[in-house]
Amino acid sequence: MSATPVPAELAGQIALVTGGSRGIGRAIAEHLARGGARVALLARSAERAEAAARGLPGDGHRGYGCDVARGAQVEQTVRRVEDDLGPIDILVNNAGITEDNVVIRLSEDDWDRVLDTNLKGAFHTIRVVARGMMRRRQGRIINISSVVGLAGNKGQANYAASKAGLVGLTKVVAKELASRGVLCNAVAPGFIETELTAGLTEQAREELLGQIALGRLGSPDDVAAVVRFLCGPGASYITGQVIVVDGGMVM
Ligand code: NAP
Repeated sequence: MSATPVPAELAGQIALVTGGSRGIGRAIAEHLARGGARVALLARSAERAEAAARGLPGDGHRGYGCDVARGAQVEQTVRRVEDDLGPIDILVNNAGITEDNVVIRLSEDDWDRVLDTNLKGAFHTIRVVARGMMRRRQGRIINISSVVGLAGNKGQANYAASKAGLVGLTKVVAKELASRGVLCNAVAPGFIETELTAGLTEQAREELLGQIALGRLGSPDDVAAVVRFLCGPGASYITGQVIVVDGGMVM
């Protein structure tokens, strides 16, 4: 007897992933594509976004150059995505940067750059994408926060504030859009092996491992699998939550 193929749970859906050209965003794009979604990847480098889109499983994925810190660019890019692929069902706000320094040495520019990308960037995309989701009475929004936004971390006042801000934004959006069938959750990764954490010294890495119950840094796939779940039918009664994916570091 031949097995009946299981239909991909996101078949027919369009997903937009910011910061999708590498690291966690790229893994999220791959997992959503494996779930059957067609994916639009955004990154400041159009070339890298397009290359990442070409590497995804399945057809019809696209990459776009867009700086999420700039509202007008986001609005134009979302319009292009909807013209090219169709209405957006899934929005993953993953684009993020760090500019670390102890708070008394943090410049106003470093503060603004991080807040503008990590927090205001999510506001820009949600404001534009949520309108269509509300009209169609369906949608999933996932904001990639961080355990640093929950527990703090020396040298990361700007980053922690941006990631804590995303938690507040997630809860407001969940409350405002629930009656229109749009769900919004945050995922808070711990320390994940990407270019963002590649600069850790050996000593910092050893100290970190001592704090992680599972005894290893996470992989982008660990985070992406949770995002895929939150976009699927199994998560239809979850909204306004922060799912921590950190190997048991913050409990
Ligand atoms: P990464 O490897 O540095 O990748 C960041 C991605 O965001 C790239 O695709 C980058 O492409 C894009 N990006 C950066 N600024 C952008 C902007 N202004 N507009 C559009 N795209 C932009 O980072 P990652 O480690 O995968 O982190 C992804 C997310 O997870 C971030 O929000 C990060 O804060 C969060 N996170 C990471 C960890 C970790 O341990 N790695 C832990 C907790 C949370 P371009 O450079 O071409 O723009």
